Amino acid sequence: MPFRLLMWLLAQSVGAGLGWAFSGSLTGALFGALVGLWAVLLIDVVRAARLLRWLKTGDLKQAPVLTGFWGEITERSRRWIRGLDQQLTESEGRLQDFLAAIQASPNGVLLLDPEGRIEWCNRTAALHFGLDEQRDQRQLIGNLLRDPDFLRYYSARDFSQDVVVAGRRKGLGGRQESISVQLHLYGNAQMLMLSRDITALEQAEAMRRDFVANVSHEIRTPLTVLSGFIETLQNLPLEKQERAHYLRLMGQQASRMQSVVSDLLTLSRLEGSPLPSSTEWIPVTSLLAHCVQEAKSLSEVITLPHGRAHELSVDLSMADRCELAGSSVELQSAFSNLVNNAVRYTPGGGRIDVVWRVLPDGHAEFEVKDTGPGIAPEHLPRLTERFYRVDRSRSRETGGTGLGLAIVKHVLQRHDAHLSIQSTMGVGSCFSIRFPATRTRQT
Ligand code: ADP
Repeated sequence: MPFRLLMWLLAQSVGAGLGWAFSGSLTGALFGALVGLWAVLLIDVVRAARLLRWLKTGDLKQAPVLTGFWGEITERSRRWIRGLDQQLTESEGRLQDFLAAIQASPNGVLLLDPEGRIEWCNRTAALHFGLDEQRDQRQLIGNLLRDPDFLRYYSARDFSQDVVVAGRRKGLGGRQESISVQLHLYGNAQMLMLSRDITALEQAEAMRRDFVANVSHEIRTPLTVLSGFIETLQNLPLEKQERAHYLRLMGQQASRMQSVVSDLLTLSRLEGSPLPSSTEWIPVTSLLAHCVQEAKSLSEVITLPHGRAHELSVDLSMADRCELAGSSVELQSAFSNLVNNAVRYTPGGGRIDVVWRVLPDGHAEFEVKDTGPGIAPEHLPRLTERFYRVDRSRSRETGGTGLGLAIVKHVLQRHDAHLSIQSTMGVGSCFSIRFPATRTRQT
């Protein structure tokens, strides 16, 4: 500033000196001083105009090169603008990181303004509600999400709970997805809308309910029969023979309950125990010999009253030097289940083929084929569900629990193996288990 005052004084003095030199009068000197002052002011105005023009754009690259007072202002403005630019870049980066994190969320997120217009939504929310992230911005949510439950929830303005709406996509089994939606107020009456796919949760809950109902039913029926017999034994004077008959029937019901409980315990053990070892090798012949023996005994028991035995053919020629990695108890129970089912569902006189094969690619296959009644195609996908039975009376008559194939499926999953079922009504069924090369070896 003192330098500026000095410049003004110098300009006036030079002007006054030149005016005196040219005119030789005081008026000339005063005029010269005035011209000097105007010249300095003009230069000032031009420099200020350059600075103002630049400040309007704020483009750091086009900053004017000025010295002195205006140069100082230019330099300070430049530093200030650069600081603001940096802050803006950092904020923008943070915002982008934040939005990317919300995009990555498995849940849907929508930001609504106080009128309910969409300000922003992530991809998951767009998928849940069939929205277009760009096109549907500024649209009213009530116009896009027409589910009556949601509209009621939205207009009631009580967001303390969520509401479940039908999603736009179809989940497994062709069922419409179930989406849980909850709104949260924030800021200046804006709304955060969160959505979550709860289809799997609802299915698990339905399965749990079905399972409890099935177990209760399986236990309640023999229990009712048992208590009926107990009442009869208590209240009626029975002959010795009749008493023995009733006691035998009671024994059957008790063992039916025992089988259900034991299969349920097997299933829960399979679910809860660590995966079977892949380094413990079991000779296949020892696994199969036991289950074939068991099947023969079962066949005798079942076919004895009718007098027509099963034709049981067992080909274990390729099992001789073969070993399987896993749990012998679990594998044994899977093999026995398949062979016993063939025996139980094939009428006397029918044929049952049990084969162990080692395939050229190193896989191994266990196959049980029967000439039983066969299973209609619509039942095949559901056979491994718990308590799913095609032939209820045959299953119960032969001591079935409806859990056998569920156990097989679990055991196979734990051994990286796969069950395939082929069946033709009136011709027979073929159940085969395929083990991966990593679980089989030849000694
Ligand atoms: P269960 O204890 O009732 O036999 P499973 O889970 O072992 O239960 O089998 C489920 C259902 O599949 C059975 O109830 C039966 O209807 C059908 N099934 C299984 N194996 C055969 C087979 N070899 N032939 C015909 N039906 C079968």
